[in-house]
Amino acid sequence: MNRGTIIALVVCSFLPLAHAAPEPREGVKVGQPSAMRKLVPAEGLERQATQEFSQLKQQAAAKKALAPDDHPQMRRLRQIAARIIPHAARFNARAQQWQWEVVLIGAQQVNAFCMPGGKIAVFSGLLLGLQLTDDEAAVVMGHEIAHALREHARERIAKTELTRLGASLLSEFVGGGKYSGVFSAGGQLMTLKFSRDDETEADTVGLELAARAGYDPRAGVTLWKKMMSANKGAPPQWLSTHPSGNNRIEEIERHLPDVMPIYERTKSQSRQDGVVQR
Ligand SMILES: [Zn+2]
Repeated sequence: MNRGTIIALVVCSFLPLAHAAPEPREGVKVGQPSAMRKLVPAEGLERQATQEFSQLKQQAAAKKALAPDDHPQMRRLRQIAARIIPHAARFNARAQQWQWEVVLIGAQQVNAFCMPGGKIAVFSGLLLGLQLTDDEAAVVMGHEIAHALREHARERIAKTELTRLGASLLSEFVGGGKYSGVFSAGGQLMTLKFSRDDETEADTVGLELAARAGYDPRAGVTLWKKMMSANKGAPPQWLSTHPSGNNRIEEIERHLPDVMPIYERTKSQSRQDGVVQR
């Protein structure tokens, strides 16, 4: 703990409770989630995600494209996820109750996603097509998990529903937060497009998750370079749902100083604990 942190903690502990500023936290900064997301109940969305995910698994299995549990790449993905997941709750307390799942789909798409409730799918076109290292795979998974933790899908669906309902109903719903309508299913969650701000947030939170799990967040830079060069041919699907800005790599580089100390500490910790380094 450096001197600045100690002073900040001391100052905080003397603040009266009612005015207590949030404890300064290490890592990337995230804003308050949009209040609008409350219009869509988290439970409902997680149920929908579970249904869509099991449909995806069935479809993939029918095409013999669902990697079996003992597939080496499947095991690799699950190992990476298992190291990231314990750090998820700091970004969303609900994550402790999620029934996390990870599948590997054998398909050429350069794609990956994590649905609300922790349902993760990675396509072999991304993992193997781009020959991702463990660090790069951890950054991708961290990014996707961050979308779920920060409830970007919930917020996006709430905004879409509001536009549909019309402004006249707005105050009623915002006031009560009692929206219980049915939002259309049919793979919606898999193809949801996020905003630029959501993407930036997923990038930065994803870097922190990777760092906490002991993966090198600098892999975010090499990952994006691979994505961009893959994009020279046919545009990878991941990029079509993940609008890319020219400054994305720069933005990742700008956030590295927030997460590198976490990574260095995790690494030295695991050395002390005698964990075999990769
Ligand atoms: Zn994204």
